[in-house]
Amino acid sequence: MQTNDELFTRAQRVIPGGVNSPVRAFRAVGGTPRFIARGQGAYIWDAEGRRYIDYIGSWGPMILGHGHPAVLEAVQKAALDGFSFGAPTEREIELAEAIVALVPSVEQVRLVSSGTEAGMSAIRLARGCTGRSKIVKFEGCYHGHADALLVKAGSGLATFGHPTSAGVPADVVKHTLVLEYNNLAQIDEAFATQGTEIACVIIEPIAGNMNFVRASVPFMTRLRELCTKHGAMLVFDEVMTGFRVALGGAQSVYAKLIPGFKPDMSVFGKVIGGGMPLAAFGSTREVMGQLAPLGPVYQAGTLSGNPVATACGLATLEEIGKPGFFEALSASTRTLVAGLQGVARDAGVPLVGDSEGGMFGFFFARELPQNYGVVMATDKERFNRFFHAMLDAGVYLAPALYEAGFVSAAHSAEDIAATVHAAAQALAAKA
Ligand SMILES: *Cc1c(COP(=O)(O)O)cnc(C)c1O
Repeated sequence: MQTNDELFTRAQRVIPGGVNSPVRAFRAVGGTPRFIARGQGAYIWDAEGRRYIDYIGSWGPMILGHGHPAVLEAVQKAALDGFSFGAPTEREIELAEAIVALVPSVEQVRLVSSGTEAGMSAIRLARGCTGRSKIVKFEGCYHGHADALLVKAGSGLATFGHPTSAGVPADVVKHTLVLEYNNLAQIDEAFATQGTEIACVIIEPIAGNMNFVRASVPFMTRLRELCTKHGAMLVFDEVMTGFRVALGGAQSVYAKLIPGFKPDMSVFGKVIGGGMPLAAFGSTREVMGQLAPLGPVYQAGTLSGNPVATACGLATLEEIGKPGFFEALSASTRTLVAGLQGVARDAGVPLVGDSEGGMFGFFFARELPQNYGVVMATDKERFNRFFHAMLDAGVYLAPALYEAGFVSAAHSAEDIAATVHAAAQALAAKA
């Protein structure tokens, strides 16, 4: 057996930073990443045989917990029939039908393999449909690592963004406008000055890549009005929130708060693959008809709609569609967040939290942040100490203060209680 330290050293010889996605390297919190050997239900075990209650769930997909029997069976059966054909299969239709049935704004979907791919394709489609080049995104929202989306705000509202990654030419992001989340004045000004050139506004409606920040109802209402008025498309990036905050995604949450609310396009991932590489983007039949082979917007993929991945996603959607699923998941998640707030209060530590469905966030702060700047100004030192104390106690939280957490249906009341107990000890020790 090799220890986590040994594996990390070995990994760094052949994989940059030892990881295949940067957040896994624990750079934000320090320390050695845990190499995961297996998962079952609400738990994961590392290479040293230590068990953790898992609040990442592969960053969202594992909404049923690890190794759910119905999902395992579907995947095993599909694998026996073949891994990939490069030709259409019935299961792709079934998954598309399931998504369309659950999300009223979506009449057609195209399946792809990652959220990055889905987001990139959605933007191309929005540009193709509108014949416009400019796109609006918000600081702190992540839409995958396509070039045009790796961008931070310029110096003023009128200026376009700067690349946040080397290797992205300034020319490629010159059409991307980056605004502050929940800032009505900025979105008003952007549309007043450039409304005829904006193809789309892309947003995480409940942002999980800056911990957990909801778009306010006035902000979302204004975005909808401005997009409609100026002929821009409102693109909901529900890669994280889709089938996670509610069966109908974040758009079903906003539809309850804003009468008649619908986005123009939606991007899904994570839960719809149930842990396999699968994502999708969808819209009306008219919009989706602009895609190849019907229309002029090109998009394709060798492994798109993969037979094993679609089996995994379908089995997952079937389970989460059962009566009472989201009520129970939401209740567990609320109990966790209320528990964390309770023990923090007892310890005299400022901590606020929020959740929707099986997604949650907490901040070492007195008020829930409304944008990225405020999130990043919350107490990082305390978060990092807390993260490591929890990890030592066998609770695996997201290893960065700007990431959301995820509860699965496999988390029992005892798991939640054990987590809150560990938090009480972690916070008391530092009070
Ligand atoms: C995870 C995520 C993506 C990217 O998905 P990948 O499958 O990692 O490429 C895009 N948007 C949001 C909101 C995400 O959370």
